Amino acid sequence: MKNILLVVLTLFIFSCNSSAQDKKEAKNYKITKSDVQWKADLSEMQYNVLRKAGTERPFTSPLNKIYKEGTYVCAACDTELFEGKYKYDSGSGWPSFDREIEGNVAFDTDRKLGYTRTEEHCATCGGHLGHVFNDGPETTGKRHCINGVALKFIPKKKE
Ligand code: FE
Repeated sequence: MKNILLVVLTLFIFSCNSSAQDKKEAKNYKITKSDVQWKADLSEMQYNVLRKAGTERPFTSPLNKIYKEGTYVCAACDTELFEGKYKYDSGSGWPSFDREIEGNVAFDTDRKLGYTRTEEHCATCGGHLGHVFNDGPETTGKRHCINGVALKFIPKKKE
């Protein structure tokens, strides 16, 4: 009898776990892929940042020093996320913007470091981009601190 109880209890615990997992997965992004597929489609660095919410080393992104007109798109799904004209040098070592392209970026609460930060990700594929802080320039007060590896820069075409 005890054994049966144990089995039932174990099954119950496992079923709770999997339903919690399902809920997390069930955010309805327009673009969804299996983990295996993401791994195949992204570079190792892109995968670690976009899919595993990793952070690239500061001052390493080739996008850091670009201040040209154009658009920064999601490296995973090409959704337009930030505009070149709102990029500024925050001195942090990561590409920084004072605003996002509204509606194309989504936000979450991140407590991983023991305090609360606002995480931001691509609203189309869910790929992690970086965090938003309230120490930005006067224009908006916001500093969108973004991993360069999560972005691709598309320069504006000359007319
Ligand atoms: Fe995306």
